[in-house]
Parts: sequence; structure tokens; C-alpha cells
Amino acid sequence: MGSIYNKIDLSENTLNLMKDARKLTDSVFGQGIYIRGIIEYSNICRRDCLYCGIRGSMPKVKRYRLSEDDIVKIAESHIKNGIKTVVLQGGEDPVVNTEYLCRVIKRIKSFDSESAVTLSIGKKSYKDYCALKSAGADRFLIRFETSNEKLYKKLHPDETLKERLKDIYNIKKAGFELGSGFMTGLPGEEDGDTDRNINMLKNLGVHMIGVGPFIPAPGTPLENFYPPSVDRIISIYAKVRLMMPDINLAATTAMDALHTGVRALSFDAGANVLMPNITPYEARENYNLYSRKGKVDKNLSSFSKVSKELKKLGYKALYNERGDSPKFIKEHSV
Ligand code: SAH
Repeated sequence: MGSIYNKIDLSENTLNLMKDARKLTDSVFGQGIYIRGIIEYSNICRRDCLYCGIRGSMPKVKRYRLSEDDIVKIAESHIKNGIKTVVLQGGEDPVVNTEYLCRVIKRIKSFDSESAVTLSIGKKSYKDYCALKSAGADRFLIRFETSNEKLYKKLHPDETLKERLKDIYNIKKAGFELGSGFMTGLPGEEDGDTDRNINMLKNLGVHMIGVGPFIPAPGTPLENFYPPSVDRIISIYAKVRLMMPDINLAATTAMDALHTGVRALSFDAGANVLMPNITPYEARENYNLYSRKGKVDKNLSSFSKVSKELKKLGYKALYNERGDSPKFIKEHSV
């Protein structure tokens, strides 16, 4: 087995969960891993989430914003090479408003109407969500971060969990393929939160899931707290998969920030999506949501390299495929 298993202690219980989760994943997806390209278009943010390394009040962050032309150019060059989903992620930058994003989405979709555009842009009004959908965006990622109301309020001084859930509801209502998730190991997390988090995902009827460990970000109020253990987060991947066989489960970058190689382990626990970063380096180095992100952020230096790495692990990188979640396809096939 891969050397990561020699470096990391996983409990018997987790290893068993992984085995079951992988078997189930194989039965739905085979060994295929959908590849998405993520563009971090801006690190300017009006919000002040306590855990986040680009929160609005951080004084030392060098702020950047990619131009519309830059975003479209990056997207087009990767679509030309076989990427079939482009993920646009950023802080809540007032300049990158709905009109700005709609123009970008329309340009990408007119270049290739078959490719999917995924948004990870935070809070908007229902009207905005509908406008973004009409412009051609297909999917939306928005985590609820924690299902613990008190903790949510502490971490997001300007918002309640109820409001976040209302946004998630509105995004689904606008017709998006919906992705959500949470962080594990947040300071202040209580017994039972993980089970509640997983149940919340199930009850929201999400099509895609991104879960990851909390990683302390230097300069934030939470910089001195510790991340959770690998065993804990890997067992959560497996549990999520076992509960929801037909959703797309992403192996998130934060996994490798915990320990190099852990992201590879998440495939063995049921992940079937990888999102290499396609943001230009000069910009990307300032998109530090948490420590070590820049160091572990998997690059898409070449498709053959990503394919080779996944092949070594026993998986097959899937390019030229949109890879909508089977749950979404089922819901929309009648
Ligand atoms: N502004 C968008 C995108 C947020 S960044 C939005 O609000 O949806 C994407 C995700 O990174 C967040 O949802 C959060 O779960 C994760 N993240 C941020 N800071 C983190 C940290 N310190 N450790 C681990 N994950 C973090």
C-alpha cells in the first residue's frame, strides 16, 4: 500500500469504514475521479469570518482581483485542454458583483456551452442567485461550516446559521446543482456536532459535498488552535460517503495542509472529485485561507502529471466529462 499509510496512524474502525466507503464509491463511480479547475478570482472580502486568512480585517494581506478578461482567458485555455468544469471562488468582493460575474459566466459559456461553471462566491440575494443561474452558471458551492448555531454566530459575527441556511435554500430553489459542507475541528465544536453536520447535509439534499479540517490561519483570532486528527477527518469522509452514495465528494486542499499525502487518502475514503488550482501563481500566493495552503495547493501543471499521480494511487483522472452528480442527474431526468 502507498507510503502514506506508513506515516499516518489510522484506527481499525476508520480503516474498516474506508474499505466500505470505497467499495460503495467504486460501485457508483468506478475508479474515476472528476477533475475541476478552480480559479480564485479575488481575495478581497467584506466579511470577517474568524477562521479565515483573508477575512476583511486582516491588515497584512496583499489584496488582488483578477480582471474579467483574465478570468475568462484562464477558463478558456483550460477548457480547450479538456477541463469541463471551472470553479470560480472568491471573497465577497463588492466590485465582483452579480453583473461582473454574469458577464464572466456568459463569456465562458459562449466559448463552450457544454462546460459547467461552478460558483463559490458567498452570500447573494435570491434575485442575484436567479440572475447568475440565467447567465449560465450550473453549480453553487456554499458551506454551512457548522450546524452548531451558537458556534456559527461566534465564528461569523455578522450572520446567523438560519440566514446561511436560507441562502442555501434559495440557491437550490434557483435551480443550481448544490454543494455544501462543513469544517471539522473548529475551536468551540461540541460533542455531537459532527453527526449533526452530516445529518444536515443529508437533510439539505445536497448534490456535492466539500468537507475539510479546520486549519489555523496566522493572524486570525484562531491562529493558536490545533487542527483535528487525520483519523477523525478521514473517518468523516467515509461516513459521509456511506450515507450518500450518489453525491460528488471532493478531496479538499485543506486535507493536504493537515499532512502531505492526506488528500490522496481521502480518495480511499470515498472522494471522487479533485479540484486542482488554476489561479496564476502571483495571485494564488495571496489567497491564503489557512497556513500551508500555498504549499500544498495542487497545481494543474499538466494533465498528464495529475493523471499519473492518480494512476499511481489506483484511480483514473476524468477529463472531458462534466461529471454532474448522479443525484442531480436523477432528479432532473424526468
Ligand atoms: N466566500 C465564499 C468562499 C469561501 S472560501 C463563501 O463564503 O462561500 C471556501 C471555504 O474555505 C470556506 O467555506 C471554508 O469552509 C474554508 N476555509 C476558510 N478558512 C479555513 C480554515 N482556516 N481552515 C480550513 N478551511 C477554511
